[in-house]
Amino acid sequence: MAQGGGRNVTIHVVQRGENLFRIAMRYGVTVEAIAQANGITDPRRIYVGQRLIIPGADTSSPGVPVTHVVQPGETLFTIAQLYGTTPGRLAELNHIVNPDSLYVGQVLTVYEENPSGTASIQRGTVHVVQPGETLFRIAMRYGVTVEAIAQANGITNPTLIYAGQQLVIPGGDETPELTADLPWPALSFTVHPLPASQGRAVGLRLQTAVPVELSGTFMDRQIVFFGGDGVYYAVFGVHAMAEPGLYPMMITMNTGSESVTITQSVQVADGGYGYEEIDIPPDRAGLLDPELVRSEAEMVASLMAGYTPTRYFDGPMGLPTAGSVTSMFGTRRSYNGGPYSSFHGGVDFGGGVGAPIYAPAAGVVVFSGQLTVRGNATIIDHGWGVYTGYWHQSETYVQAGQFVSAGQLIGAIGASGLVTGAHLHWELRVGGIQVDPLQWTRESFP
Ligand SMILES: [Zn+2]
Repeated sequence: MAQGGGRNVTIHVVQRGENLFRIAMRYGVTVEAIAQANGITDPRRIYVGQRLIIPGADTSSPGVPVTHVVQPGETLFTIAQLYGTTPGRLAELNHIVNPDSLYVGQVLTVYEENPSGTASIQRGTVHVVQPGETLFRIAMRYGVTVEAIAQANGITNPTLIYAGQQLVIPGGDETPELTADLPWPALSFTVHPLPASQGRAVGLRLQTAVPVELSGTFMDRQIVFFGGDGVYYAVFGVHAMAEPGLYPMMITMNTGSESVTITQSVQVADGGYGYEEIDIPPDRAGLLDPELVRSEAEMVASLMAGYTPTRYFDGPMGLPTAGSVTSMFGTRRSYNGGPYSSFHGGVDFGGGVGAPIYAPAAGVVVFSGQLTVRGNATIIDHGWGVYTGYWHQSETYVQAGQFVSAGQLIGAIGASGLVTGAHLHWELRVGGIQVDPLQWTRESFP
């Protein structure tokens, strides 16, 4: 989880002739990991001079591995100096327990910190801008100048930074102290993950010096907070079709005697979703009564829209079934050559009729029954505005009002409702907004 701390990372400056695949190979990471860390939706589009954050690169040993043959008179100390590393690192890398045992002709593995001929690796820190921070504060925190950060990040106007922005801190201190420029009574405020992105949830945590009543808005919707005694949480769903860009987040803290508002621009990034065309033969297009489709969607929306104050989910969710994913969340859909105006609102899993479906997290069943479009459907309320839905089942094993624990068998995969084959459509809504359920299996909220 991003806690606002700087993390020590490797920054790769793209050189002429390089592509993302080569860069990923070089650092032993995946193209996807680099793309995600840098908000790259099209991996072919990188440019010379671009600074890429390399997530998970082994930062303890960056550079190119070379071998060094120990010469007479050399010690770990002199060799370390030669390569810009430390004797401790050299010893560790070569499993040397006793430095006096070093012998001439011994072959040592060394990582050159700054290999000659390629100035493409920088040591630095990446700081993710937190709500309430200014460039001045960030510079103070890392003991560098505003100008140095501005220059390293191509910032011409230092007042234009935003929450979620990733800043390269040149030569930054690795252990910064946490400070944020927040109005009283706010003590800390974190938003994760940053940047927020289309079709994914963001968790908010606000700590205050005194108990407050909180209200907030983001992307024209209410932020509903839970918690108390100075520590408050919210989970917010960003709509899958929301325009990427900067959106103001406003949170008002009411102490009873005064009201203070935090306003912060928060970046919403492109979700990187694909596109698909779906052709519905004319004889099937008129099969369903549009009024019935609409009323069913409305009923499901109202069942999945409330805010239960009890949080039943805890930690990352499990997967609801063992089958493989056959269709991802968020794919933009065009029907019969029309505009890409809708998207896939859940994740589809394959699996034969009768394959078990398990609750991915604890909750209370709020609906279990037969629907026309969604077939045999189950909806679980996980609290704090988080709901999951399971469509097209062959059988359901739970009833409305029933508490289910994480991992409990709730139904079986089927082909009921409007489907072309047996599958489970798994849906997750936060504050009534459909978000990618798979995000919830990787990250934990709040
Ligand atoms: Zn589906």
